[in-house]
Amino acid sequence: ELKDLIRRGPCAWEIPMRGPMKVPAVVYGNEALVREMDDKAREQAVNVACLPGIVRASYVMPDGHWGYGFPIGGVAAFDADQGGVVSAGGVGFDVSCGVRCLHTGLRRGDVLGVQQKLADALFADIPAGLGSQGAIRLNHQEMHDMLVGGAKWAVRKGWGSEADLDRIEEGGQMLHAKPGFVSDLAKTRQRPEMGTLGSGNHYLEVQEVGELHDAAIADAFGLHGGDIVVMIHCGSRGLGHQIGTDYLKRMVEAAPSHGLVLPDRELACAPLRSELGQQYLGAMRAAINCALANRQILTHLVRAVFARVLPQARLPLLYDVSHNTCKQEQHVVDGRRRELFVHRKGATRAFGPGHPDLPAALRAAGQPVLIGGSMGTGSYVLAGTQASEGLAFSSACHGAGRAMSRHQASKNWQGRQVVDELARQGIFVRSPSPRGVAEEAPGAYKDVAAVVDAAEQAGLARKVARLRPLVCVKG
Ligand code: 5GP
Ligand code: MN
Ligand code: MN
Repeated sequence: ELKDLIRRGPCAWEIPMRGPMKVPAVVYGNEALVREMDDKAREQAVNVACLPGIVRASYVMPDGHWGYGFPIGGVAAFDADQGGVVSAGGVGFDVSCGVRCLHTGLRRGDVLGVQQKLADALFADIPAGLGSQGAIRLNHQEMHDMLVGGAKWAVRKGWGSEADLDRIEEGGQMLHAKPGFVSDLAKTRQRPEMGTLGSGNHYLEVQEVGELHDAAIADAFGLHGGDIVVMIHCGSRGLGHQIGTDYLKRMVEAAPSHGLVLPDRELACAPLRSELGQQYLGAMRAAINCALANRQILTHLVRAVFARVLPQARLPLLYDVSHNTCKQEQHVVDGRRRELFVHRKGATRAFGPGHPDLPAALRAAGQPVLIGGSMGTGSYVLAGTQASEGLAFSSACHGAGRAMSRHQASKNWQGRQVVDELARQGIFVRSPSPRGVAEEAPGAYKDVAAVVDAAEQAGLARKVARLRPLVCVKG
């Protein structure tokens, strides 16, 4: 079995070049994870390897599974000088979906008595669920400023502090965003959605730092056993989704005029050096700013809740990192430093120690890589490694990955039962959607411990700490 795969290490597998492939495909994971991965994910990685201007390899992270066009967990870098492309499907519909982790200064004992009160207060103040609306309505000018300024804009508006910006990728503001290339429909969809969590797998969790895997790095990150942290997972809401929809269609339509023969229509892309490619990059960067601003506003709301319920808490940001982006980065390929456009779709950027883009206080330890598991099993903080650059353009997994479809999960569990069972374990879930909870039941996800073990064994990142959920607000 595991046809077409050649083992390259305990957690690395290669699909060698054949037919129209321009580079090999590389899948990371132990044998069990790679067996579990659907054939479709591997097929998609092979399709990505056929795209023009792809550099070195098409990669799949250990939590990889089938996605739209590119696999979720897919990483691919393209060189504009070699006809490289940018793909809307290679970024994903929830542009810049990502995770941020806040310290609280609290210890386990501070929250155990008020867990339910905290859960209720967070649920009351954080708009969550399909169609939920935020309290902020941006006018035309503010929408433009937000799309250009990201979290920096949000901080200027009073939703956070300068210190937060240092702990966000790109300093909180993605440069070269072009709101003019974002459709009116995308902006209209976003108007009521600023400062909302969204639905499905997006969540806000209060977690306890459990097992430490690397005490020195944990210390550098300011994490100690029994500390309480807050993790926020969400993205660019309706705006990013509409940008994905708009540009996917335009990329399909324009493909023949760009001389692109697509192995799969879902792989729609445009040359980096084309008007459409540049427009998409500008719009996608605006969506990155939308996600950064959104997580910043949610952070402000969280801080206000803690100020009421646990006024002694202080919530500085540990880090904020996205897992659905295309970023221009320099990487060394065959001994030469090159300017590349790295797509990470359901993959976390994972810069190693010493990287100049990391905040000074974290630089020696490497970038915090924030990994969701499930509302029942826990999550992880990892750290980027130097090896990851050569292995996957400095990328790692982003979660546990689904073990079954939402549909299957909603047949296996009932939301109410899941909530009750987790409450018995001391995990208090609040959600407007029982069906959503069933679809997101812990059993619907793969074993996150196995995934991060594989990421570590493959050399993509180092395990730092495991986080145990105490409160989960689910969209
Ligand atoms: P995605 O970005 O693909 O939507 O989801 C990322 C990961 O988040 C999933 O692979 C899953 O492991 C994790 N996840 C989904 N729901 C929850 C949750 O409620 N809590 C935590 N901690 N992780 C979750
Ligand atoms: Mn998302
Ligand atoms: Mn996500």
